[in-house]
Amino acid sequence: MKTGFKLNNLHSHFVLDEARSPVARFRLLSKGINDNTRLLESDRIVGDSACLACGNCIDNCPVVRLNVGRVFIQNQRTSMALENIVEEECRRCYRCVNACPQVNKSLKEYTLGFRRVEKIVHLIAALVIISLAATGVTHSHYSETLGAMEGGVLKYGHRAIGIFSIIIPYLYYRYDICHFRRTLKKIFTWGSQDLDWLRNTYAHIFRAQQDKKILRHEFNPAQKFWYLFVLSVFPILYLSGWSSILFGAADNDILLLKSKMVHMLFALSFDLMLFTHVYIKYVREWSKNIYQQYKNYRVTKSFVFKN
Ligand code: SF4
Ligand code: SF4
Repeated sequence: MKTGFKLNNLHSHFVLDEARSPVARFRLLSKGINDNTRLLESDRIVGDSACLACGNCIDNCPVVRLNVGRVFIQNQRTSMALENIVEEECRRCYRCVNACPQVNKSLKEYTLGFRRVEKIVHLIAALVIISLAATGVTHSHYSETLGAMEGGVLKYGHRAIGIFSIIIPYLYYRYDICHFRRTLKKIFTWGSQDLDWLRNTYAHIFRAQQDKKILRHEFNPAQKFWYLFVLSVFPILYLSGWSSILFGAADNDILLLKSKMVHMLFALSFDLMLFTHVYIKYVREWSKNIYQQYKNYRVTKSFVFKN
């Protein structure tokens, strides 16, 4: 029986930062079945942290649900099957770890906090970007139909949110430097796997007979491009925004018009990329899930998935 469990930060960081299913390795870091959960007849299983084939991790994994749907065959409801299905498509959501009865509570708590800063910063960034887009578009296109007060609120609100957005990279850097460095390293490292992903995606779109899927590997070329786009377009938006304010104050109409044109052009391309990002990350996945529900309902006349 394993005793005196102590979390090894290096090991757990390595496991949680890898885009592969972490549950089996977290199970092995755990104490396993304890005295209070053993059957009286089976003292020997105390301390055993082997997979129970309960399938909780399989049922909770979003990649499994999207790629193969519900899994009912008993010998495919294990951590090994999970690893084979997920491969390098793991999203590091850690739902499998939290659903596993063989993983220690302390480890589950640890995984819950592991990406907290990253997620909070991402949420702030999403809110800031959506507010900037909403206030910018409304102010640019509908300022004449709005009252002076509403127009002023939108204009100064847009500028205030723009200034506030500087805090996003700072928060990420200040409170989660490990993941900040990890993200930068990933987006600036390109290799043969990116070429494979591009070939695969090309075949998926133009050679349907090859039956290739678009794989959602973490930091695939499209994702890297999105991050690089954000990093390069934000400074342009800042500069063109400030130039518009300064040229407006100096009554220089020609330069004001040019700055506004640059600002609006890059803002439009940013909004289009944002829609694509939201579509791939959420809308496409929700649509697939709804379609699976619909197909199941047509066969079973029930919203419960059956074998
Ligand atoms: S549940 Fe989340 S962390 Fe676990 S294998 Fe699936 S995607 Fe990866
Ligand atoms: S959740 Fe169940 S099937 Fe998955 S690793 Fe844990 S014990 Fe095995």
